[in-house]
Formats: sequence, C-alpha cells, structure tokens
Amino acid sequence: MIRALLNTKPWRLVVLIGTLAPLAVVCGIRWEGTGGAVSLASLLLPVTLVALSGQLRWSLVASCVVSTAIVIEAFYSGGPDGGAGYRFAAALVFIVTTLTLLVTTAVQVLRTAIADSGASLTSLPDLDECGQGNRSTASVKMEQDTPDEFPVLLETLEDIGHRISMNLDLDTLLPAIVSTATASLNCDQCRVYLWDRTGTSLVNPLRTASAAIDRFVPNVDDGLAAWVIRERELITAEQVATERLLSAGLSDDDYVPHAVAPLTAGGDLLGLIVIDELRQPSSSFRRMLDTLANIYALGIKNAQLFRRVEEMALRDGLTGLYNHTTFQRELRSLVRKSSVNETPLSLIMSDVDYFKSFNDDYGHQAGDDVLRELAQLWKAVMPDCSILARYGGEEFIAAIPGRDEDRAAELAEILRSTIEQHPFLSNGREMRVTASFGVAEFAGGTQSTDDFVRVADQCLYSAKASGRNRVVRHSVRPVISLRSTS
Ligand code: GH3
Ligand code: MG
Ligand code: MG
Repeated sequence: MIRALLNTKPWRLVVLIGTLAPLAVVCGIRWEGTGGAVSLASLLLPVTLVALSGQLRWSLVASCVVSTAIVIEAFYSGGPDGGAGYRFAAALVFIVTTLTLLVTTAVQVLRTAIADSGASLTSLPDLDECGQGNRSTASVKMEQDTPDEFPVLLETLEDIGHRISMNLDLDTLLPAIVSTATASLNCDQCRVYLWDRTGTSLVNPLRTASAAIDRFVPNVDDGLAAWVIRERELITAEQVATERLLSAGLSDDDYVPHAVAPLTAGGDLLGLIVIDELRQPSSSFRRMLDTLANIYALGIKNAQLFRRVEEMALRDGLTGLYNHTTFQRELRSLVRKSSVNETPLSLIMSDVDYFKSFNDDYGHQAGDDVLRELAQLWKAVMPDCSILARYGGEEFIAAIPGRDEDRAAELAEILRSTIEQHPFLSNGREMRVTASFGVAEFAGGTQSTDDFVRVADQCLYSAKASGRNRVVRHSVRPVISLRSTS
C-alpha cells in the first residue's frame, strides 16, 4: 500500500486535490444543514472517476465544470453565511483529500495486482494446434516496468545484443553469456547447456573437472529440463511451486533452480540456460530472461554456424580429414617447432594402388566409400598427435611429431597390412584394396618443408615402381619387413 502510494505520481495528487477542494468548500457551505452527506455523495462520483482514470484529463475537466458551476450558483444565491460554514467546509476538504488519496492508492494496488496476474498469464505455454510451444507477441513484450526504467533496460539489452552478436567464437561467447546474464539478472549462478555431439544429452561446455557438482543437472528425458525442451517455454521455481499440474509432473527433480529457459533459434532448440541464486527478485526478471535467452540463442547459433563454415574450409568434405591447404600450413608449423626444439618429425605419404581400375570395376560411389573407410583406418592407426590429411584424390598423408623414421615406418607397415586385410563394404559387396607408402624424417634446420614432402613423395614413387603394396623409407638404414608376401 505504502509502496503503491509512493509510486503514484505527485502531480496527479496535486491536480486532483487542487480541483476538488473548492468543490468541497462550496458544497459544505451550501448543504451544511444535511450534515455534509449530500456534499460527500456528490463528490464521490468525480473522486472515483478521477482515481480510476489512467488519463486524468477528462475526469478533471468534468470536475472543474461542476465545481465552477456550483461556485457561481453559491455566489449569486447570497454567499457564505458565517464561520461555522467555513469550518465545516475545511473538514470536508480534509475528508475529500483523504478519500482521494485512499481511492487512488487502492486503484494503484489493484493495477499492480492486475499487471502481475497478466504477466503470469502470458508466461503460460501458448500451444498451437500441433501442441508445439509458440511464443506470442505478448510474451516477448516488455513487462509493465515504469517508463523511467525503459531507457536503462533498452540500453542494457542493446549492449548485450551488441556484445553477443559480434562474438563468433563459441569459446569466448559462452563466458560472455554467463557474465552478462549474471550481471543483468542479478544472480550468482548462470549455466549454459548445449547438445553434445550425439545430440542426445545436454552438456555444460564451460564445466571444468574441478568445478563443484551442479545441484541441477538437466535430464532430457525427465523432469524440469524435459518439460522446457518439450514446451520450449521458460519455467521458474515459483511456477513449479504454485502450479499444481506442473509440480505433479516435475516431481523427479531433486533440486529446482530459480529458472530454466530454452535457447531456441530459427526453430532449433540449441540448449538451455539455467539461472539460480537470485540476489534480488525483480518484477521484470521473467521478461528479461526470456528476451536474453532469445539474444543468446541467436549468438550461439551464429557462432556454431561460423565454426562449421570454418571447419568446412579446413577439411575435406568426403573423409573429414584436413585438406591439402590446411595440411601444408600445419606442416610448416610442425617443421618450425621441430627445428627449434630439435625433436623428430616424420611424414607418411600413401596412394591407393590401381584405384582407377577399382573405380572402373566397382563404380565411383564404391570408390568414395573406400576413401571414407580408409580415412577411418588412418585415424585408428596413427597416434593422436598426428596431423592427417587427404592430400589429393586417393592420396593420404600424415605428419607425426615426436616420431623418428623407424617408428614412422613401423606405423606405415601396420597401416599397410591393416588396409590389405580390411574388407571394404559398399552396397552389400565386399572389396579389397592395397596402398603404397613413402616414409621420411625431417632432416633438420636446412631442409625446407617442400623438400621434406618431396622426399616422402619420392619414396612413395619408389614403392609404386618396385611393385606397390609396400612401404619405402628414405633412410639407408636397414628396413624392417616392408612388403607383404601376397
Ligand atoms: P597407381 O596409383 O597404383 O599407379 O594407379 P591408380 O589407378 O591409382 O592411378 P592414380 O593414382 O593416378 O589414379 C587416381 C585415380 O583415383 C583416378 C580416379 O579415378 C581416382 N580418384 C581420385 N579421386 C577420387 C575420388 O574422390 N573418388 C573416387 N571414387 N575416385 C577417385
Ligand atoms: Mg594417385
Ligand atoms: Mg593410385
């Protein structure tokens, strides 16, 4: 009540009282004999009108007209008749003023209550015919904040929108989301969960092994997270506590955070944002989180698309390995490190044998399937530190830091024999291929990257020339078994 009274604009009260006071004086003087009942009754209507009116203008005009008419009438009918009349009039002024204040305050309280219930109504899931969550325009409209708060709110959202949309790097975007959310929503906990690679569970990409255990872990199949994913709607702990249907369906969660909002962009659900440990409840919290979640989702979608485009530029579309250009760049960097640190660096280069004939026999599609499967075999055999690439049509290459030529030749031999024994499947048919390998070790500071690759290429050429399906290494050191017996 007191808060509502404080919220009432002072000018409204001043105008209101200033207009009604003369009316009360005249009424008091004229109808003193009736104990003021008539004057009070006559004032009730304009006072109520004024108080109920959002725009004071029309009720004030009406009050002024009535007031002026009564003053003129009183003047021409003989004027005030003594001190008692004035005292009674003064009492009426006091009563009218108090009445006005009370009615205005009550109306203000009523308005706030209606606004609050309106906000909670728009927050309920708005389902379309297909049962899908549908954000109505009303649900994204800003809450009934006082007009003074709008510029600050808009400035905050504009600033956050700018920071999020300019950031295309997911690694720095997610911390920016967490920091802007905690600052603008006035909370201590904000976590972002995104789909994992399989798209079946939600993970917090910022979570470190040392972090404290999250009290709320979203379960995509059950409870609060499942509800938000299904309905694509924000949900608050308050809703869970007060809406019986919700609380019955969400009983599986051990802990309910302050709010969970979906991160949706272009119809895709990218993940969830979880807000907890609110420092100060705010009437605009829900609307603010809803708006922020939209901004964040667009930012995440942008960054994800950017990352995908970058990946596509770096990698070969058929096998997913690095392409020729990326490999050259990575190799130059490895060569530099190897020169500086004087650590070994080896290259394994390979070419599928008689692949032209293979394509002729089995078709180009089967050839593509073989190339895809070959890439998997390379990944399985080569160490994790290797840089793997599809160097050309059916040529593959690996740069292996920390491995000398002996070790690289061993790896090449393992791969050669794996390929030779591997049943390649395409369209229900089983096929066999072999490949030839060239192996070289980086010779040190004076050798250029191009020369390094050329040496490995020459070894590959020798492997082809000496019968194929074999490993040829550059070094004159004795070679292990590098030829199959077939
Ligand atoms: P060898 O290397 O043993 O000397 O004989 P080859 O028949 O493999 O000869 P070469 O390496 O010169 O032939 C390359 C063939 O690889 C030509 C082409 O038909 C095939 N090829 C290149 N890129 C692709 C591809 O992306 N998909 C398929 N299916 N085949 C490809
Ligand atoms: Mg070739
Ligand atoms: Mg070939």
